[in-house]
This record gives sequence, structure tokens and C-alpha cells, in this order.
Amino acid sequence: MKGAVIVVAGGFGKRFGTKIPKQFLMLNKKPMFLWSVEAFAKLKCFKQKIVVVPSCMVEGLSLKYKDIFECVAGGKERFDSVKNGLKLVKEDIHFVAIHDGARPLISKEDIEVILKEAQKTKAAIAVEQTKDTIKVVSSKNRIIKTLNRSVLRNAQTPQIFETNLLKKAYSRNISRNITDDSSLVEKLNVKVSAVVTKFPNFKITTKQDFLIAEKLLR
Ligand code: C5P
Repeated sequence: MKGAVIVVAGGFGKRFGTKIPKQFLMLNKKPMFLWSVEAFAKLKCFKQKIVVVPSCMVEGLSLKYKDIFECVAGGKERFDSVKNGLKLVKEDIHFVAIHDGARPLISKEDIEVILKEAQKTKAAIAVEQTKDTIKVVSSKNRIIKTLNRSVLRNAQTPQIFETNLLKKAYSRNISRNITDDSSLVEKLNVKVSAVVTKFPNFKITTKQDFLIAEKLLR
């Protein structure tokens, strides 16, 4: 079985508030996105490693890391960045994993379990049990309804799919306002497996997340 991983690091992370996009900040002596690349590299079946970065960084990073991964320019939305990464996936690749460059804590163990499940069902994603009670609110911040927490999961990455399935999902003309790959595959009426991760795998969104990740990776 041959796999490819696409690490999406093409966003500008405006919410984080640094000049350099957060996924390129040094996290325990390593650029944040590189932690993810290295986690996938621990699994020999990932023959191809692709990192999607802002277009102005392609040249420099391609040169610096040419022996570790391939580099491609991102697009306006996450959707466009994944699409650009998919173009580099080779013909003989059976499964593609998409992973956020801003989730540096991903463990080899969790990747292995999700990959195994994807091999069984064609599509599997990392999730976390939803801890808080979720409210649906109106534009005026009035609660419309309360969701049943026991059936809710927070979607994470990696999201791993059979290559042809993922390519088909991305070839369709859909609205760009999508925040994960699974939702596109779900539209093809495929049942995607949700695998609860064993180890922390949160997305670095705030400075506090960054400090916690630093401690955990130490
Ligand atoms: O914006 P969000 O936090 O959902 O981004 C998740 C991941 O997608 C990040 O690693 C970010 O760098 C990446 N991304 C991208 N291209 C974009 C927007 C986001 O690769 N245009």
C-alpha cells in the first residue's frame, strides 16, 4: 500500500496575529509544520510528502527541504490549497492523507489507526469527542437549539481517503466555503469513519495553544 500526505500550510493565519504565518514559527527548534511532516515520515508507507505553502515561500522551502518533501503554492481558500496539492499526487498512490500544518502534535500511533480504518472503509478521519454542550444561535445571539452532545464529534485531521475517491470529491464544482475534506466526500454518499484520537491533536489557533504545544512536545 502506497500513501501520500498533503500537509496544508498555505494559510496566513490572521487570527494568530504574527507577521510570519503561525505554521512557520519555530516550535521547539523546528518550524511548526515540520512536526507533522516528520510524524508521517515515521510510517514507511507514506512514499510522497507534499507541503502546500504560500506562493512567496515555495522557492525557498523547495530548495531547503528538497530531500524531505515536495512543495506547492497554496490558493485563496483551504479548498484551493488541497486541490493544488492533489495535482502532485502520483498515479500509483492508493491513499491520500490531508493534514493541517497547524496540528503539530499528531502522533504516529493515531495516524496508523486512522490509516487502517481508511483501508477498510475507503475514508476515515480523526475526531475528538465533543466536550462542551453545543448551542445553535441566531445572528442576534439568541439560542435556537441545543444539540445532543453524545452524537457530536469535533473533526480534526488527518483525514485519509482512497485516492480516486478524494480526487472525485475535489473535481466537483462546489462552493468553496468548506473547512474540511470529509464534507466533500460525504456529499458523494460515502460513509466516512470517525476515529477518536488517543493523543492531543488540537489546532494551534491562539498563543496559549502554542505555549501548551511547546510544553507537550518537549
Ligand atoms: O483556516 P484554518 O485554521 O481552517 O486552516 C487549516 C489549515 O489549512 C492551516 O494549516 C492552514 O495553513 C491551511 N490553509 C491553506 N490554505 C488556505 C487556508 C488555510 O493551506 N488558503
